[in-house]
Amino acid sequence: MKGRWILHIDIDAFFAAVEKLLHPSLQGKPVIVGGLPHERGVVSTASYEARKYGVHSGLPLQKAYQLCPQGVFLRGNYQIYEAFSEKFFRLLSGYTPDTEKASMDEAYLDLTRCRILYPFFSRTLQEIHRRIQKELGLSVSIGAASNKLLAKLATAQAKPGGVVEIEPEREKEFLKNLDVENLPGVGPKAQAILRMLNVHKIGDLQGFPRATLHSLFGLNGKELYLQARGIDSRPVVTSSVPRSISRETTFLKDIWNQRLLLAHLAYLCDRLVLPLRQKGLFAHVIEVTARYSDFCTETRRKTLLTPLQERGEIFSAAHDLFLDLFPSSRNSLRLVGVKASELVEGKPLSLFEPYSPKQEKLGGAVEQVREKYGFGSLLTIREKMLEDLYTLKKDRGFVLKTASLTK
Ligand SMILES: [Mg+2]
Repeated sequence: MKGRWILHIDIDAFFAAVEKLLHPSLQGKPVIVGGLPHERGVVSTASYEARKYGVHSGLPLQKAYQLCPQGVFLRGNYQIYEAFSEKFFRLLSGYTPDTEKASMDEAYLDLTRCRILYPFFSRTLQEIHRRIQKELGLSVSIGAASNKLLAKLATAQAKPGGVVEIEPEREKEFLKNLDVENLPGVGPKAQAILRMLNVHKIGDLQGFPRATLHSLFGLNGKELYLQARGIDSRPVVTSSVPRSISRETTFLKDIWNQRLLLAHLAYLCDRLVLPLRQKGLFAHVIEVTARYSDFCTETRRKTLLTPLQERGEIFSAAHDLFLDLFPSSRNSLRLVGVKASELVEGKPLSLFEPYSPKQEKLGGAVEQVREKYGFGSLLTIREKMLEDLYTLKKDRGFVLKTASLTK
């Protein structure tokens, strides 16, 4: 194969597959991971059996139950999934250092630099496929092509459990017959416009000149023009710096009490600080999300002068954003979340040091205890207050203990 050798590797129905592996009695059953049917969260992963009923990731659990009442609903165990994910990436990085973690169960590999080691490309694909199946016990799909866009499109064709390789001479033909919504640049809005123009296949889109797409879709039009031709020069990014880290909670009952919500926000900020510290990352942007009882969702973000990692500083930024979102107690919230993004490695240089070294030392000590004994082992006064109101569930967030508090 000429050009770059890019692989996209994705474990099929990851969380559900791990559950089936650990509990063989679940084989062949519609497994839905994310929470119990009466809970208010969303589906994280649905097994292929559950997908037949229309259940998919992101669907509210209660809706999933309506569609598939016979489904096996599980809250899931994220520590176990993490362990499988680590094993997955360890296996892959044995093939090339050019490995990108797209998500817990999804990777891009660039074998271009190592191609001398793999003279029989197709055989290497089959070997990786077999080894993941054998060593992790999980079904995986692999797409291979000359860039990330095409490799990912190939994986979608390979699912579940297959390997699809697109040789450069076959790229054009492969793209032509795919539905246009397979392209990442085609969201629901673009899809509606394209449908009106009678554009269904990527081949139909290839007929549009760049200027026409630009006038129809603005900046996104330029991207669409390239995507329709299978052009994608994005490199495989090996850095382990994630794009963002976020923590959120869907409450069992809507909450209007502002003090309680702020205490919960403080708890989420603390949970956010742990992975930041573990990875040595600092956040340039803090974002707070609130979802009201009518499902209307609003976010506020703040770009910081100096990137942050310290718990007090992150909470102070989140606190201001939250008050901006939630100025009064007129509405109640069903979800609150906090996100750190534009992350950078290492401590940035700053002219200002608003927090003392003493405070930083204290933060480090708190995180060390939590890393070793779990988040709930050490609680701040604010969290202790929350704990009195909630049952602290091992790193999965709080579950409301006293329903009357929300009245
Ligand atoms: Mg997957």
